[in-house]
Amino acid sequence: MLSKRAGKIKPSPTLAMDAKAKAMKASGVDVVNFGVGEPDFDTPDNIKEAAIKAIKDGFTKYTPVGGIDPLKDAVIEKFRKDNNLEYARDEVIVSCGAKHSLYNIAQALYGPGDEVIIPSPYWVSYPDQVILNDAVPVFVKTYEKDKFMLKPDVLESHITKKTKAIILNSPSNPTGLTYDKKTIEGIAGVALKHNLYVISDEIYEKLTYDGFTHISIASLSNEIKARTLVVNGLSKAYAMTGWRIGYTAGPKDIIRAMTNIQSQSTSNPASIAQKAAVEALTGPQDFIKTMLSEFDRRRKFLVTELNSISGISCLTPTGAFYAFPNTSKLYGKHADENKVSSSSELALYLLEKASVALVPGDAFGDNDYIRLSYATSMDNIRKGVERIKEAVNRLKQA
Ligand SMILES: *Cc1c(COP(=O)(O)O)cnc(C)c1O
Repeated sequence: MLSKRAGKIKPSPTLAMDAKAKAMKASGVDVVNFGVGEPDFDTPDNIKEAAIKAIKDGFTKYTPVGGIDPLKDAVIEKFRKDNNLEYARDEVIVSCGAKHSLYNIAQALYGPGDEVIIPSPYWVSYPDQVILNDAVPVFVKTYEKDKFMLKPDVLESHITKKTKAIILNSPSNPTGLTYDKKTIEGIAGVALKHNLYVISDEIYEKLTYDGFTHISIASLSNEIKARTLVVNGLSKAYAMTGWRIGYTAGPKDIIRAMTNIQSQSTSNPASIAQKAAVEALTGPQDFIKTMLSEFDRRRKFLVTELNSISGISCLTPTGAFYAFPNTSKLYGKHADENKVSSSSELALYLLEKASVALVPGDAFGDNDYIRLSYATSMDNIRKGVERIKEAVNRLKQA
């Protein structure tokens, strides 16, 4: 019999959709895929070369569990340069992707009955990582009118004696929106007043638009820095999702606990990927600019097109590579035998009748929306929105 723990985890709600999209593609249907959560760019050559060199040099053995010193130093320098944050080596751990970093934090911090506040819509793994560690996710709804920022007073009204931590994610997956400084300051104030830990997932930090500057909550004061775990990684900014390198900076007792946990599970991240990561962080950074300007072009086009579809409205994203349009006005409509009364039914309708794959908002805890990734070519985006427009125009009031 399986453990109680295994029974508590649901399969991802996007899996059925994804399987269906893949099956359609395999049978020869030209599916436009807005579902992907990774850059469509190739990892830059200088980074690949560093990995090849590592292999040729025989850098293929175990390393220290929490990462090699040159990588920790590169991470420390990144925090100093980009975020005005000072960390020592024992305040940093490198893990097998930011998701693994978040999981190590969950293992190190959460226990039975602890409540962890998760603003919704949220990234899919946050609740399950909390549940896997016997703690309780407390969802706090955020609103489009507030650009999906959690208001500090609303946060405070959800705090109980059991509240242990809050998970922040800016720029956000799925909304593509970003927190402003005033709101981050407010949240830091509430976190300090109630002794909460802040887990700040900043993986999209470098992907922002319209002149927006990311601010790490940890950089606001030494007090909040001492309560914050900053999570970041190489997957998104350097198109390195398959290399599995993420990292955390925070108080050294927590980093030590995370390192012990990692030492009994995965051990070190791949030695070769670590060498590649050193090059990514310390080598030329112009790749990011190139990728970002292409994302920016697609973002503007996609959002304009979505807003031209009757019944759909979309805020202009300021970060990441997702658009998160409100599709709730379409619910209750139908086309022939297809009833559309939820984000999942809309996604299924668009997949079956328009050959467009995307992720329904209920996967992220908000049924009023759908998520489209624009980490796909301009041609695909053009073709995909045209199909969405036609399919939505076929929907009739029931
Ligand atoms: C992609 C993503 C991650 C995890 O990235 P890794 O590949 O595990 O480094 C973490 N948080 C958010 C919000 C993401 O979108």
